[in-house]
Amino acid sequence: MARIFAITNQKGGVGKTTTCVNLAASLVAMKRKVLLIDLDPQGNATMGSGVDKHNCEHSVCDLLLGEASLEQICIRTDPAGYDLLPANAELTTAEVQLLQQGDGGVSLKKELAALKPQYDFILIDCPPSLNMLTVNALAAAQGVIIPVQCEYYALEGLSSLMETIQQIGGGINPELQVEGLLRTMYDPRNSLTRDVSAQLTEHFGDKVYSTVIPRNVRLAEAPSHGLPALAYDEKSKGSLAYLALAGEVTRRNP
Ligand code: ADP
Ligand code: MG
Repeated sequence: MARIFAITNQKGGVGKTTTCVNLAASLVAMKRKVLLIDLDPQGNATMGSGVDKHNCEHSVCDLLLGEASLEQICIRTDPAGYDLLPANAELTTAEVQLLQQGDGGVSLKKELAALKPQYDFILIDCPPSLNMLTVNALAAAQGVIIPVQCEYYALEGLSSLMETIQQIGGGINPELQVEGLLRTMYDPRNSLTRDVSAQLTEHFGDKVYSTVIPRNVRLAEAPSHGLPALAYDEKSKGSLAYLALAGEVTRRNP
């Protein structure tokens, strides 16, 4: 049965999408079956997986609205090798409609039930806000992976995210847990980075992954080629870091 993780942080630009794409590719390299769900209307995970968001006949929007089947929507990425439910701007329409439905928060959870036996890991890339799409991701997931950029306002944003996780855990999804906090774009030479990192460990203990993702230009370049870093430059520091993260994730979820 798949472990389902929502990769979320309402802050933009902290490395959610980069983590989804590269963790998915790294888990495949470790022989795991992986589904990546793009739940951000910006479609960055879709484009970064080499799928043109403008040319998708069906997208995750159709899944949420019950207008297409999983088989019609799902795309096997090449060369990365994970399956993808792509997204584009249409997803904004789905969000509005879900808001109007009484049970709009659990739409994704219902659809994923049938898929769980087919995968080892299902990763959900969330939009940079705590909206109805994020609620759907948190309702469907067992664990939340939170990428954190170790800078001044990082901790402030985390408290509202933790409140949301607690609310959903006390309501529509009692099994929801924080799976791990991931330090991204990490620069150990920067003293603020080290301070914030120490505070994170103080608050969250061993929920903080021991793997840190360094700032690495290959991770930033790879999406413009529609590739995970592992397929773009497999020896780069970025791809090695995400392989190490995949190792930690599989050890925590054997
Ligand atoms: P989010 O999904 O949280 O908005 P992204 O994953 O899209 O964040 O990352 C924001 C920007 O930073 C992107 O341009 C991405 O390529 C870049 N980026 C992410 N992680 C790294 C990293 N470790 N090193 C260098 N650039 C990174
Ligand atoms: Mg993103």
